[in-house]
Amino acid sequence: MDYKKLAERLLPGEYLPLEEYERMYPPRALPTGAEVTRLAPSPTGFIHLGNLFVAIANERIAHQSGGKLYLRIEDTDLKRKVDGAVEAVKRALEYFDIRFDEGAEIGGDDTYGPWYQRQRGEIYRAYVKDLIARGRAYPCFCTEEELSELREQQTAEKKITGYYGAYAKCRNLSEEKIYRNLDAGKPYVIRLRSMGDPEHKLRFRDEIKGEITVTENDQDVVILKSDGIPTYHFAHAVDDHLMRTTLVIRGEEWLASLPIHLELFDVLGFPRPRYGHNCSLMKQDGETRRKLSKRKDPELSLEFYRKAGYLPRAVKVYMLTLLNSNFEEWYLKHPDAPLEDFSFSVRKMSKSGTLFDLDKLNDISRNELAKLSAEEMYDFLFSWAQEWGSDAQRARVANREYLLRVLALCMGTGSKKRRKDFETAAQAIDHIAYFFETPEQTDAYRVTAEMKNAILSAFLQTYCAADDAQVWFAKVKEVAASLGFAAEMKEYRAAPEAYAGSVADVAEVLRIAVTGGANTPDLWTIMQILGEEQVKARITGAMEDRS
Ligand code: GLU
Repeated sequence: MDYKKLAERLLPGEYLPLEEYERMYPPRALPTGAEVTRLAPSPTGFIHLGNLFVAIANERIAHQSGGKLYLRIEDTDLKRKVDGAVEAVKRALEYFDIRFDEGAEIGGDDTYGPWYQRQRGEIYRAYVKDLIARGRAYPCFCTEEELSELREQQTAEKKITGYYGAYAKCRNLSEEKIYRNLDAGKPYVIRLRSMGDPEHKLRFRDEIKGEITVTENDQDVVILKSDGIPTYHFAHAVDDHLMRTTLVIRGEEWLASLPIHLELFDVLGFPRPRYGHNCSLMKQDGETRRKLSKRKDPELSLEFYRKAGYLPRAVKVYMLTLLNSNFEEWYLKHPDAPLEDFSFSVRKMSKSGTLFDLDKLNDISRNELAKLSAEEMYDFLFSWAQEWGSDAQRARVANREYLLRVLALCMGTGSKKRRKDFETAAQAIDHIAYFFETPEQTDAYRVTAEMKNAILSAFLQTYCAADDAQVWFAKVKEVAASLGFAAEMKEYRAAPEAYAGSVADVAEVLRIAVTGGANTPDLWTIMQILGEEQVKARITGAMEDRS
């Protein structure tokens, strides 16, 4: 068979000689040991936690080694393309401080672009043409129906499904038949002529999983679709070679395709990159562990974290905890260090499923938010509210001076033990709602309605906004004593049966009346921030509420 003639017929015209591509995309001038990694999302509009997980690893590996991280958009499958998806991906990753050096919509060095696979059609076709000319790829005219019949036949015969070996009908078409099909205008795809043997098992060193066994590929996979666009597999090999990726870190769902990729690199004459297949994120669901699912788990979507207003550092800290087994210990020793100071290691990445636990993230989140100064917290809440907040939430961040006082109280100041009430921006802004709006009474009074009213009314009579904390508290004690409560905790503990309760119970009534909740920071300070008028109005309101 004259393969050169066939290549010319299938992909007519002048293509750049392949050496020219080698010159256009030269090896990168980087120090030894520098890794070039990438993120290669499809523009489906859905970017998830698994992507972030891999992105953080890729980012650390590249930048820690003095290498590069780039963003490539794998848009070969138009059916899955969603408008605005690239922007969304970029924004989502930027939020978590994933810094790309180059790539789609990044700016930076363009030597290795274009970064959208759809703009690289010529390049792929040049390589496909070369494979055809070398007899290593061929046109396949099988229709969808024929392929699904084949699948059924293989299933019935309990054989591996796919296009391979004796099942690959078009692999050995005669020259005459091929040209007859082409003359008849039959649509076709281009397939790899695989030389692999599934009896051959290869030892393969995965950077994350270690030594694994890989079965040689024997599938004649499609490399160029009928519209002249390559498949993911083929574009992966060509791009990761020309863009000079040194290390492909990707989700383990791609492990099954590894044999195909290895054969493609080999047949194209490209040195193979190193690969690391990252384990999937799992979730404990009752007794079982399962993969996080798009349908069942909103926390899989990255938007979930931005919408709720998780501090990016908190999510990153948790991801690093999951990614590197020694991170947690390091972080305990260096809680305030830049995360880049941690020496990330591919070898320490988990080899099997990683359990993702939102409660753990929430714990970390509370700790991280508690490290912020009131000013930093303000800035964080403000920018979150502008993007995601409701009108009410935006209103609560409008007055900076006022909110700073609230935050100083609610978080504590200086290095003394900080409160850890805040988990996310949304939760924090709602948590402090009582500083802005008269609260619903969320916590129930633990005294009778009569007693509650008696306490509130006695307090109102003595209340003076100018009182300092000591005087204020002395008055609360007086109110307590006048209504049969122990003014001192000591007294109460010595003889609880002698009292209606203690001063703490009285303070709780005041607290619920003013804030709606029984668990708040210092009540005197809250009253100072709210101001006399608000305090009186709320206490009066709570008395009117005779429930
Ligand atoms: N486009 C593939 C994806 O969206 C990329 C896989 C890879 O990293 O090679 O998952």
